[in-house]
Amino acid sequence: MTPSPARTTTPPLGAPARAHRPRPRTTTAVTGIGTLVTNDPSLGAGPLGLVRDAAVVIEGGHIAWVGPSDRAPAADNRVDAQGRALLPGFVDSHSHLVFAGDRTEEFNARMSGRAYSAGGIRTTVAATRTASRNVLSDTVGRHVREAFRQGTTTIEIKSGYGLTVDDEARSLDIAAAHTDEVTYLGAHIVAPEFADRPEDYVALVTGPMLDACAPRARWIDVFCEQGAFDGDQARTILTAGAARGLVPRVHANQLSYGPGVRLAVELGAASADHCTHLTDEDVDALANGTTVATLLPGAEFSTRSPYPDARRLLDAGVTVALSPDCNPGSSYTSSMPFCVALAVREMGMTPDEAVWAATAGGAAALRRTDVGRVAPGARADLTLLDAPSHVHLAYRPGVPLVAAVWKDGVLGHGTG
Ligand SMILES: [Zn+2]
Repeated sequence: MTPSPARTTTPPLGAPARAHRPRPRTTTAVTGIGTLVTNDPSLGAGPLGLVRDAAVVIEGGHIAWVGPSDRAPAADNRVDAQGRALLPGFVDSHSHLVFAGDRTEEFNARMSGRAYSAGGIRTTVAATRTASRNVLSDTVGRHVREAFRQGTTTIEIKSGYGLTVDDEARSLDIAAAHTDEVTYLGAHIVAPEFADRPEDYVALVTGPMLDACAPRARWIDVFCEQGAFDGDQARTILTAGAARGLVPRVHANQLSYGPGVRLAVELGAASADHCTHLTDEDVDALANGTTVATLLPGAEFSTRSPYPDARRLLDAGVTVALSPDCNPGSSYTSSMPFCVALAVREMGMTPDEAVWAATAGGAAALRRTDVGRVAPGARADLTLLDAPSHVHLAYRPGVPLVAAVWKDGVLGHGTG
């Protein structure tokens, strides 16, 4: 039996181009695309760079050509999109997939009237510490595949349910087997053993735990929130991480107003995530900085909480990303199409803005230019919908519209 070269050379989701091993440079033309979302205004109409009756040529793992279908060059293989919509694979910049245990009962209780607090994370920490590496890795793989079937081709994965030096390092190693977008979140909550001496836990997170985790991650994150880490602690942790080459991102202003967003902007963080409770000063800071506002409406949905005001951010000129925030407590969904629908219905985004945020916005939040767009030179990460337009992602909520997904030019889901 000859192994598929596609499978043996496919890097993990989110792997940057440098990790990309050579593959035979066969070409595939996807023709008859009813609506192509390029996210490149130089290639088509509007901010999404929309092209009607389009074709895309994939060469190896990258896009080689984009243009009108009737002018598509010859290719080794041809896929007829039959008038359906093609868009960049979704870029999910925020997930917590290294976990064990089940919090169905917590969700059930919350839906019966009790408010969510950060304390529920401790349940998952206890289960994660006692789980085997294989069980944790299987869980990550299952959720990465689940997201992929829904069109996500790049996914960031955080630690944060270990909260000891060894358990955080193990979590990062497991995440790294599935993506290169790995985030050290030792500062998810204060570890239970340190409940009475949080400053000692901050010293651990910025000391021995950082020593172990810095070589294993690209990003450092902090849950800056009442009940987790205050602004001074978050600053200490993010600054220590940055000194070790990790780029900050911040869980900011999710449950209450606070210093997280302004700290993220001040430190040049790639992303401030949640942004649910914002003052005018917070919005101004985001508008005048380089930090992306990543909105996670699955969390508000799953906690029956007010949604962030995306319209306010967009009108101020802030770059907005969307992510499902997949985690076992506050948002147990991996579905970017679900978040697009929520963003349109509940957060004031237009369908175009929501699709941009789920693709190019996520890429911006991960500081990636090789994903989140369909243009010559970009990675051939593509999602084909069983619909004539990307607008159907919001127009037909809850419907499994993803017909096919390519990652690095390899068809990994669906038949096209
Ligand atoms: Zn999160």
